Amino acid sequence: MRTAVPAVPQYIIWRDERKISNRNTPPTTQTQTQIAHKKYNTRNMKFITTNFVKCAVKTCDSSVDAFPLQYSDCQIVQEELEYNPEFIVHMLERLEWNAVVKVARDLGNESLPPVKPEGLDPIMEDDQVILRDLHTLLVETQIVEGKMVCRNCEHIYFIKNSIPNFLLPPHLC
Ligand SMILES: [Zn+2]
Repeated sequence: MRTAVPAVPQYIIWRDERKISNRNTPPTTQTQTQIAHKKYNTRNMKFITTNFVKCAVKTCDSSVDAFPLQYSDCQIVQEELEYNPEFIVHMLERLEWNAVVKVARDLGNESLPPVKPEGLDPIMEDDQVILRDLHTLLVETQIVEGKMVCRNCEHIYFIKNSIPNFLLPPHLC
């Protein structure tokens, strides 16, 4: 028997059980130290960032293939961040959902709903579950290392230490 396709959409790409839940606890391992320090870096490459970056090469400006970038060889972590349901509802309106689904697939999650969840209300219990999951996906999931490839010009951008590098060599600017 094959495993049935889950009826409920799964928003979570990867759940880190070691998530740092208390920032006052001194880190105990080198890995945790590194993750803890990233809390204070606002340039962290969160999943949501993938919805706002495209290829920087001039000739890709008008190409539909320059967004979203294709993500490969990515290493992701999850970091517990303050949950703000209103922010998620507001962001959701602005998100290009097709791109969210595409990038999630790049990162190994095939089960996002094809249609953007809309009209979510933080007061409704069912919606709360979805909003929580979206918070984990969009805000708490971060890409630490990896490649972003333009589907149009195939230029590769690298993400290192959770910081995406969009600097181009002079001949591409
Ligand atoms: Zn490009």
